[in-house]
Amino acid sequence: MLNIKVCGIVQGVGFRPFVARLADEFGIMGTVANKGSYVEIFAMGDEVALKNFTEGLKMHAPKRSAIISLDILKVPDKDYSEFSIIESEREEGKIFVSPDIAVCEDCKRELFDKNNRRYLHPFINCTACGPRLTILDAMPYDRERTSMGEFPMCDKCEKEYFAPEDRRYDAQPVCCNDCGPEVYILGSNLKGKEAIKAVRRAIIRGEIVAIKGIGGFHLSCDATNEEAVAKLRKRKSRPVKPFALMAKDMDALSKIVKIPDEAKDIIESPQKPILLLPRKDNSPVAKNVAIDNPNLGVMLPYAPIQSLIFRLDDEDDALMPEILIMTSGNPSGAPICHTDEEAKESLSSIADVILSHNRRIRLRADDSVMGILNNAPYMIRRSRGYAPLPVMMNIDFKGEVLAIGGELKNSFCLAKNELFYPSPFIGDMTDLRSVIALKDSVNLMESLLEIRPEIVAADPHPLYNTSAVAKELGLPVFFVQHHYAHILSCMAENHEYGEVLGLAFDGTGYGEDGAIWGGELLRVNATSYERFAHIEPFVLAGGDKVSREGYRIAIQFLYEEFEGDEEKVFETVKKLDLATKEEFSAVMFMLNNNINTAISTSAGRLFDGASAILGIRKCSTFEGEAAIYLEFAAEKFLAENPEFTEDMFFPNNSESFNGIMRTKRIMRELLKRRLNGENPNKLAYFFHKALVFEMLQSALWAKEKTNIKKIALSGGVFQNQLLTTLTKKALENNGFHVLTHSLIPPNDGGIALGQAFAAMAYLNKK
Ligand SMILES: [Zn+2]
Ligand SMILES: [Zn+2]
Repeated sequence: MLNIKVCGIVQGVGFRPFVARLADEFGIMGTVANKGSYVEIFAMGDEVALKNFTEGLKMHAPKRSAIISLDILKVPDKDYSEFSIIESEREEGKIFVSPDIAVCEDCKRELFDKNNRRYLHPFINCTACGPRLTILDAMPYDRERTSMGEFPMCDKCEKEYFAPEDRRYDAQPVCCNDCGPEVYILGSNLKGKEAIKAVRRAIIRGEIVAIKGIGGFHLSCDATNEEAVAKLRKRKSRPVKPFALMAKDMDALSKIVKIPDEAKDIIESPQKPILLLPRKDNSPVAKNVAIDNPNLGVMLPYAPIQSLIFRLDDEDDALMPEILIMTSGNPSGAPICHTDEEAKESLSSIADVILSHNRRIRLRADDSVMGILNNAPYMIRRSRGYAPLPVMMNIDFKGEVLAIGGELKNSFCLAKNELFYPSPFIGDMTDLRSVIALKDSVNLMESLLEIRPEIVAADPHPLYNTSAVAKELGLPVFFVQHHYAHILSCMAENHEYGEVLGLAFDGTGYGEDGAIWGGELLRVNATSYERFAHIEPFVLAGGDKVSREGYRIAIQFLYEEFEGDEEKVFETVKKLDLATKEEFSAVMFMLNNNINTAISTSAGRLFDGASAILGIRKCSTFEGEAAIYLEFAAEKFLAENPEFTEDMFFPNNSESFNGIMRTKRIMRELLKRRLNGENPNKLAYFFHKALVFEMLQSALWAKEKTNIKKIALSGGVFQNQLLTTLTKKALENNGFHVLTHSLIPPNDGGIALGQAFAAMAYLNKK
C-alpha cells in the first residue's frame, strides 16, 4: 500500500473527488483526506494499478490545482474494501494558508456576461480563485480577519456564501457590485468604471499609469509604444533592466513569444507567474522593453481589474494595446508599494494616473518570476501564487524556526516540525524600507502560521542588515554560512537529507575566513559542511562598487598577468577599451597600496570580469547584467553554430587537480584570444565550457576522496541556464546524480530555506 502526500494548491479545487474518481478507475482501495496543508492518500492495489494511479495524479489533476510535491511512501496494507473521502481533519499545528489564486475561467466568464450581477466587477472571485495570503490579518481564515471584514455581504452574496452547492460557498472574499470594494483614481473624484476608463485613455495616449493589483501596485504603459517605454525608463531611472509584460490573453501572447507546450500550462496556471520565453522576431513589442535580450518576461492577467484594463466592452476596446508593461511599482531598492500613501509618495513622480482601490493589501507579494529548464519550472523569484506554500521535509523534525534570509532578494522562511514555509519576496535589505517590510512581514507570517520560533537562523556576514534584524529578536541566533545555506536549500527542495557534494556558484557570500566566497565545492550534510575546493582566489579592488563594475576585475587580472607592469596593463586596457585613464588609475592606486581590496573566490565576479574582457559589458546597471549578457553571447554563438564541436581550451590536460579550480588560466586564454581578434560570442561560450570543465574536475576529485556521487547545484550563478545545463550534463556523463532547483530559486531568494534546514537540524541534534 502507498501513503501519498500531495502538497500544493489542492484545497477548494475539487481535488479529493478527482482522487476518488481516479481510484475507482484503477480499482484502488483506500482513503483521501484533507490535512490542512496537504492532501493525504492511502492507496491499496496491485503494482500496475498503483503506478497508473500515481501517474494519473500528476497528469490529470484538476486544472485549478497545482501539485508542488508528491511524496510517496510504501506502508503495510490495511483491510480497505472501498475508496472513500474522509472529511477534513486538520492536524494539530499544521496550518494551511493559501497563496493568492488568479481569477478562474468561470469568474472571467461572469465578468464579461452582461446578464450576470457581477458584470465588470473588479473584485469578482469564488471558492477556487481570488486573493488569500495578501488580505489575511489573522487566522483562522474567516472574513472578519481579512481585508474584506469591512465590507459586509449583501443578501445575495450571503446566500451564495452559505449554500454548499454554490461555487461561492465559503469563499471569504466573495462580493459584488453592490457590496464589494471600489476602484478609484487617486487625487480625483473618478470611481468605478469611470476610473478604469480614465486609466485606459491614459495608456492609449502613451502615458504611464500605476495600478493597484493583488500584492501591490504595478507601473504600466503600452508596451508597443517605444516613446512611452522610454519615458518610463527615464522616470524610473532604469536604463536597461528588462520590464515584465502582461498580455490580454493567450492569443496576444502568442504574437510576441514562442510558447512551448510545457510553458502553456505554467502561463495559464492559477499562480500566473511571469515566465521568461524566447521573443518572436516579428514581435510588435518595443525594442526598449528588453534591450538586446532574446527573451521576454510575460504573464496573463490574474486580477479581474487587470482584465478590465484590457477590455471594458466600450468604444476604447479597439484602441487598447494588447500588451502592457506590468512592472513592480516601487522606488529602486524599496519594496513594492501597497498603500495609497506609499503610492502617492513614491509613484506620483513616475505615473501620470494612479488607479487604486479600498481593499487593503495586508502582505505585499511581488509577481513570481521563472524560466523553464528541462521542461520544468526554474524559479527566479518565488512570491505571489507560491508563497507561503510549504516545502515538506520527510524527516521527523520537532521545533519552530525562523530563518531571516540573505541581504539581496531577501525572503525569509518559517518552519514548524516538518513543514517549511518560504515567505514572499521582500527585497534588497540595503534599503531601510525593505528592512521595515521584513520585520512587519515576519510578525504577520508568524501569527498566521502560529509559529513561535525558538531560534533564528541568519547569515554570518557582519554588516548585513538581516543579521542585525535577527539579533534584535532576542532569540538565540544560529549562523549558517551563505553557500552552505544555498546547497542545503537545494537539498531540501529535492528531499535529499543525506550527504552530498555541492557546487555553490554565486555572487557574494561571507566566507568563514573573512574572504568573499562564491565559487565553492562543499561537502555538505544537514549539520555540517566542509570546504573542499574553490576557484582561484583573486583580488577585488573597489569594495561594493566591484559588483557593478566588471572592468575593475579585468584590470586586476591584467595587473597580475603583467606582474604589476602598469604600462603594459594600460596598453591592454586601451586596446580592449576597458576603462578611462582615470578609472584605470583609481584601480591601480588601490591595487598598489592595498586599499579597499578584498580576496575573493566569487564566480559571479569572474563572469563580470570575462564579460568586460570580451567587450560585452564593462559595467552593469542592474545586478547580474554583465553575466546575463555573457550568457546571451554564448547562447547566440551556439544557436548560430549548432554543429560546433571544438570542445575545450585545454584539450591536453595533464596537470592533475589539486583542489583549486584553475580559473586564472581560463581568463588568460580569453584575453589572449580576444587580443587575437577571435569572435567574442565564441569566447563567451568557451568561458562557460572551460568553467564547467573545472567544476567537473573538482567534483571528480572530491568523489574519489569521499565516494559521494550526489551533487547539488546552487547559487545565483546557476540562474544561468546554459551553465546549469552544461554542468548537469558533464556531471551526469561522469556518473553523478545531479540535484538542481525548480520551485525554490538558486539565487539568494532561496537561502532562507537552507538556513531553516540547518537550524532545525541543529535543534533536533541536541
Ligand atoms: Zn473564480
Ligand atoms: Zn454582494
